[in-house]
Amino acid sequence: MQITRPHAAMLASPGMGHVIPVIELGKRLAGSHGFHVTIFVLEADAASAQSQFLNSPGCDATLVNVIGLPSPDISGLVDPSVNFAIKILFMMRQTIPTLRSKISEMQHKPTALIVDLFGLDALRLGREFNMLTYIFIASNARFLSVVMYFPTLEKDVEEEHIIKKKPLAIPGCEPVRFEDTIETFLDPTDQIYREFVPFGLVFPTADGIIVNTWDDMEPKTLKSLQDPKLLGRIARVPVYPIGPLSRPVDPSKTNHPVLDWLNKQPNESVLYISFGSGGSLSAKQLTELAWGLELSQQRFVWVVRPPVDGSADSAYFSVNSGKIQDGTPDYLPEGFVSRTHERGLVVSSWAPQAEILAHQAVGGFLTHCGWNSVLESVVSGVPMIAWPLFAEQKMNATLLIEELGIAVRCGKLPSSEEVISRVEIDATVRKIMVEEEGCEMRERVKKLRDTAETSLSCDGGSGHESLSRVANQCDCLLERSRGMARGA
Ligand code: UDP
Repeated sequence: MQITRPHAAMLASPGMGHVIPVIELGKRLAGSHGFHVTIFVLEADAASAQSQFLNSPGCDATLVNVIGLPSPDISGLVDPSVNFAIKILFMMRQTIPTLRSKISEMQHKPTALIVDLFGLDALRLGREFNMLTYIFIASNARFLSVVMYFPTLEKDVEEEHIIKKKPLAIPGCEPVRFEDTIETFLDPTDQIYREFVPFGLVFPTADGIIVNTWDDMEPKTLKSLQDPKLLGRIARVPVYPIGPLSRPVDPSKTNHPVLDWLNKQPNESVLYISFGSGGSLSAKQLTELAWGLELSQQRFVWVVRPPVDGSADSAYFSVNSGKIQDGTPDYLPEGFVSRTHERGLVVSSWAPQAEILAHQAVGGFLTHCGWNSVLESVVSGVPMIAWPLFAEQKMNATLLIEELGIAVRCGKLPSSEEVISRVEIDATVRKIMVEEEGCEMRERVKKLRDTAETSLSCDGGSGHESLSRVANQCDCLLERSRGMARGA
């Protein structure tokens, strides 16, 4: 068989925030760069939002070949109460033998293996099958810089950052405040610290790092990552900012009751509220948010899920596709839905977010600052209220508020112990929806949206060019292997 196209094998870790960008990257490699693409996804249960998304027209994965891998049983390996990130890591590790046998069965052997942050252990398959290897950071350059730099200064981190609470000074980048550091990076005795911090040292063993951002979004950090005198010295391999990857959507072609409702609302009048694929609030916080929304008198669509009085990421593996409630769910203040029904809509668990944000009626987004949510908001020109919960979300919020001026913070620096009051929520919602500050942020985010479009342009856009460089590397390897096969 004459192989003319490079083949990318991609491994996505479970969770919508991981699967969606991997599929979009695969679609981009197939559609704009002529790759044959196989995406391996750990299967979740059929009722989950992930399974439903993969089988929905919105996913539009016709350009790529998606293969489900059975979720490995990790019950004997980790305590059921461990952080969800540890669970994902162990699941990905246990999947490597299955991935190896799937790759060895392939007739058209992959030219490149692309793994996300949880799949770094699979990089060793690169050597076994003579594949180029890439790490795909589905988050941003700031996150990449922290993860990469952290293990190089472990002693200082402990002394200066964790004990003295001083900001992390990363060469060529904005310092990272102690309060913004990923919480799991703050306890060197914790399993998650021991597992994840050394990952930063693995980055230079890949052939390149692909990151879902673009020059105008993070100019300073990207410059540092590409400068051999600054962070480039640590990265040692090329960093490719190929973003923004986000699912192209057309709300007018999607059938969903929320979109029907939005069709009847004035332009830029609705606040959309969602805490991502797995974020939850405490019962007390949920009540305050409901009252704050009611007090603000603004239109809203709220994707709400039952409260969790524990870790904010507890629902990460269990979110199902939601249906619109007729009455008030018992965890919201009594009568909330009937009192607000003329200007608000409550959706339980799950909604077509990218389509909602792209709808002209939406004028603001109260978000947990997951990176996909941020990108979907930016490409739709929607300013945000930042309400970070876990992982790198606090760093993302700081980027949006302090560097880009396209979001406003709700409360001070939210932490799980601190409840943001209805009065603060009311004031913040009105700030973004009707006040001058909100209008200014809307202008700025629309300018950033335009730069996102430019980055993706096939006519010399920086994101497109970055991915072309990855494609060229793969073409060269393919050419070399063909030459060797002819010579043999
Ligand atoms: N999402 C959605 N509907 C929902 C909640 C989330 O479509 O009700 C999608 C959202 O559009 C985004 C992804 O799930 O693409 C969430 O990823 P993000 O990085 O924002 O956060 P995470 O879920 O990983 O915390």
